[in-house]
Amino acid sequence: MIRLVRKPLPESVENKLAGLTAILQNTAAGESRYKKATSLWSSRDSVKKNLREALSDFAAGRNRCMYCGDNEGTDIDHYRPLALEPLLAYTWLNHLLACSRCNSHHKRERFPCDDEGLPLLLDPTVDEPADHLLLALSTGRYVHLTARGEVTVEVCGLNRDLLTRGRQCAYDTMTMLLPQWLHIVQQTAGVDNFLASASPEEGPPALVSAEKTIKGQPFADVLHAMARQADQPGADVIFSDRVDILEILRSPLFRVRFGFTA
Ligand SMILES: [Zn+2]
Repeated sequence: MIRLVRKPLPESVENKLAGLTAILQNTAAGESRYKKATSLWSSRDSVKKNLREALSDFAAGRNRCMYCGDNEGTDIDHYRPLALEPLLAYTWLNHLLACSRCNSHHKRERFPCDDEGLPLLLDPTVDEPADHLLLALSTGRYVHLTARGEVTVEVCGLNRDLLTRGRQCAYDTMTMLLPQWLHIVQQTAGVDNFLASASPEEGPPALVSAEKTIKGQPFADVLHAMARQADQPGADVIFSDRVDILEILRSPLFRVRFGFTA
């Protein structure tokens, strides 16, 4: 799971959501409002198409699930489930893109809260997942740093076998692709200064193509974890067998081109 920056909706879509929310507000609270929310949600395909497009616009890679980062995000997940918060059925801030495995098999209607009623499940558009979860690159498993991290791993099944193996594979893929990226940079000697100030979409076609390939891989959380851990104590141990990768991850050009400057 990585931090994602939610973009505002087009005004026309916001207006549609406001109209649908008004219908729910005018429905008696309780069971009937929940039923109304679920019947509306299952019938309003044009709005969901708008929402899916808007979510895809800031999802990682090629429409990846915002929880696991592996599968295609085919579902619009209600962060606060309809069963608990039917009034939020059409609230943009309550929508996330999720795969059916995370949404329907693992999370379902679960939404654990602490003693003060605050959500324990991480919202990648609000919370910085790396503050709560550490990705062990050697095993592909998430280690929780906080109670919220622990709940998130459990609710979304983030350490399921397919995901841990997929992250290990993604790490191997990155260790193959990053030296190729560096090789292309070195072949275009003299453009380093240009690249450092250019937008990530600008540059020699071969370089832009290589970066698009890297950014389009599933498990964006692996590259994020690599970039983060390269800057932290213990990096020399974590990357002891791949010092070349560590140097790439620490290079200013890599950090600018892949958006790890913050
Ligand atoms: Zn998923």
